[in-house]
Amino acid sequence: MEKQTIEKVSHLLETPKNIVIVGHKNPDGDAIGSCLALSFFLRNRGHQTQVVMPNDFPDFLKWLPGCESVITYDRNTKRVRDSIRQAELIFTLDFNALHRTGDLSEVLESVQAPFVMIDHHQQPDDYAVATYSEVSMSSTAEMVYHFIDAFNGVAEISSEIATNIYTGIMTDTGSFRFPATTATTHRVIAQLIEAGAKNSDIHQRIYDTNSPERMKLLGVALNNLHILPEYKTAYISLSQEDLDNNNFKKGDTEGFVNYALSIKGVDFAVIFIESKQEGITKISFRSIGTFSVNEFARNHFNGGGHTNAAGGRSDNPLEKAINEFISILPNYKDALNHVS
Ligand code: 5GP
Ligand code: MN
Repeated sequence: MEKQTIEKVSHLLETPKNIVIVGHKNPDGDAIGSCLALSFFLRNRGHQTQVVMPNDFPDFLKWLPGCESVITYDRNTKRVRDSIRQAELIFTLDFNALHRTGDLSEVLESVQAPFVMIDHHQQPDDYAVATYSEVSMSSTAEMVYHFIDAFNGVAEISSEIATNIYTGIMTDTGSFRFPATTATTHRVIAQLIEAGAKNSDIHQRIYDTNSPERMKLLGVALNNLHILPEYKTAYISLSQEDLDNNNFKKGDTEGFVNYALSIKGVDFAVIFIESKQEGITKISFRSIGTFSVNEFARNHFNGGGHTNAAGGRSDNPLEKAINEFISILPNYKDALNHVS
């Protein structure tokens, strides 16, 4: 963390403040874990905090310490709006453009309170008075650890904070295997275990609580797998009907795209998920090596993220979205065949 950023934040936190901490739409383990960890830390430093999300988060995260205090804009619109309007300081975590909060962005754009950004995605927007952005970081949760360290707070890391940060790092690194996982990440993890994060327990709670319906849906997804060897590409699709037939719940499709990426010879994997309610097709992109799915998602599907993991959307229904994707691929044939 840069000295200048530390000084700015230090100044903002000099006196006890009323602080709102915001994560992105469809929050994942990193968004929730980071926000909750920071909330515990700031409270310990004498501030008042409220964690706010645009919408609900998956059941497999609903045991995280402090998660019962999270309020969501889609369910508690007035409370969230009031909290944000009363806030003296707003932290935004695990995203770097206000539109990533969906409808909540209108509220955020209309307030006077200063923003502090903590995030590891590429190409951050310029809305914060203090921007702690590091795209090489494994996760925002790891950055929250470094943030706490920068404020000499490592000794204050309770088991609640440690559990939340551990979960954020674990979920964003595919259990410490993606390339952004560094020796420092592992040193942070060691500290978190010493501070009370029960590592084996956390893995079990996140990964071993599959519902039978999720497993059935995975079967459907794998059945819908298509491989395009000339582009080293594989894609999976799930229609609204597939989701409805298998009692789809938020978070059920998390990680499905990685099965496509795990195929030998595949360097680019995509999952298309139809959402009739939103009238869109949600898309997740993953790659191995130098092919930037951040650029691909930004250029063609209204999205973004990281070099090897990004998300986006198409305003077309499922089949049309897939055809749109397939028609773009020839432009990337060379890039996809020279992935290192
Ligand atoms: P996922 O495919 O798991 O939804 O997202 C992969 C990564 O891309 C995550 O880090 C996520 O925050 C980011 N991401 C997902 N959707 C979008 C989007 O629409 N815009 C941007 N800028 N990033 C996204
Ligand atoms: Mn993240």
